[in-house]
Formats: sequence, structure tokens, C-alpha cells
Amino acid sequence: MGRSKKLVVGNWKMHGSRAANAELLKGLRAADLGATAPHVSVAVCAPFPYLGEVAEVLQGSAVAWGAQDVSAHEQGAYTGEVSGAMLREFGVSYAIVGHSERRAYHLESDQTVADKAKAALAQGLVPIVCLGETLDEREGEQTEAVVGRQLAAVIATLGADMARVVVAYEPVWAIGTGKTASPEQAQAVHAFLREQLRAVGPAAADVPLLYGGSVKPDNASTLFAQADIDGGLIGGAALKAADFVAIAQAA
Ligand code: PEP
Repeated sequence: MGRSKKLVVGNWKMHGSRAANAELLKGLRAADLGATAPHVSVAVCAPFPYLGEVAEVLQGSAVAWGAQDVSAHEQGAYTGEVSGAMLREFGVSYAIVGHSERRAYHLESDQTVADKAKAALAQGLVPIVCLGETLDEREGEQTEAVVGRQLAAVIATLGADMARVVVAYEPVWAIGTGKTASPEQAQAVHAFLREQLRAVGPAAADVPLLYGGSVKPDNASTLFAQADIDGGLIGGAALKAADFVAIAQAA
């Protein structure tokens, strides 16, 4: 991946319908991001059932697509799970792993998240590994301990392959709340994460570090201007083509 281009990824979460997606994708295609944001890589992570349609519409555009999760298993008796190989058949480039909503509501452990990242890489998908502290953890001055522990599990599992992932720092208290981390707060955590990655080796030091948590068109450019912020993972604002395009163009 590397840091030469900013990366802006939309996370649709469990939103959408075939009609709403068609409208949103039409807006993204019309924005011609290859020409209007040439120094930015852009992707959207859609719910599983829509990936085939997303692939059809975005094929040949500058916008890549991804999934919001992937199974840690290769195949077998895992009802409800979707494998990396299945995603690859739909031209998927990215898989979000360890989003805080999955850690919280599906009890995904640091090790499960690391195993999912490994399964994605095995199929040639780029895992977007999400990390972040809760408000209690931040107020208890545990931010570095928490994100450091979450990252360490992935590093221990992937080793040198750590250089092939994307990491997204998403403070839980900023997701969907309208409370954005200040650029300084986000940069401080990113700099800490960069140090941990540098300890793995020079290639891992170059891993793109995205910020996520209430990124909007009006705060995107200051966040993306920070030294260690290489782009964003965008939730709510990724559901409106005009907002998502404006954020990509701010990058
Ligand atoms: C997210 O879901 O990853 C996210 C950052 O959401 P929002 O932008 O809505 O805070």
C-alpha cells in the first residue's frame, strides 16, 4: 500500500437498499474521482449482499470496493460467515476487520481480529484493521495501552506481513456521535501507532494510518493535514455522495 497517496474509505455499515445504493453509486461515478481527486485512493465497504452490484457499477471507475468483515476461516461449517475467497470472486480489494461495533456487539477479541486480518491477506485482500479506545479508557488515560494492545495482537500474528495492511484509528467515543477527535488528539495517537509499526521494520512504518470518527466535509482537511494521518474511514458521511466526494477531494 504505502503512504504516497491518501486513502479514503466509506463504511456503509448496515445501511442501504438496492435503490439507495444505485443513487449513491451514481453520484460517486459522476464525481469522476480519478480526475477530480487524482492523489487519493477511494473505496466503499458495502454490506455483503450488495457487493456484486457495487462491483458492476464501480468496475472501471477510480473507486474500489470492500467488505465490512471477513471470516477468520478458509471454508467449512461456519454458518453465516463469508470467506476471503468468496469476497475475492466479487473483485473486493479491502476488508474492514475489528470495527468497534464488531468488537462490542459480536465480542470479537484482539486475536480474532488478527486472525481475520491474516485470512484477508491470504486471499489478496487488504485488511483495514480498526483500533480505538472507549471514552472511559480515554478518561482513564488508557488510550495508548488499549490501542497498543490491539495493534500488538495483529503484529504478533502477521509479522512482516504487517506491511501489507491498513490501520484505522477510530476512537469509539467519536464514532457516529458527531464528536470528532481534535486533529492534535488524533495525530498524537497516530504518532504512537507509527512508532509501534516502525519497530516492526521500515516497510511496516509506511502502513497507511486512517482516522475514523465523525469525519465530515468541514473537518476532513485539517485532520488529513496531520503528519501521520494518511486518510479516513468514513461512516455516516459516506452515505451521501456529495459529502463523501467532498471528503475524498479534501484529502
Ligand atoms: C465508522 O463507522 O467507521 C465511522 C467512523 O463512523 P462515523 O463516520 O459515522 O463516525
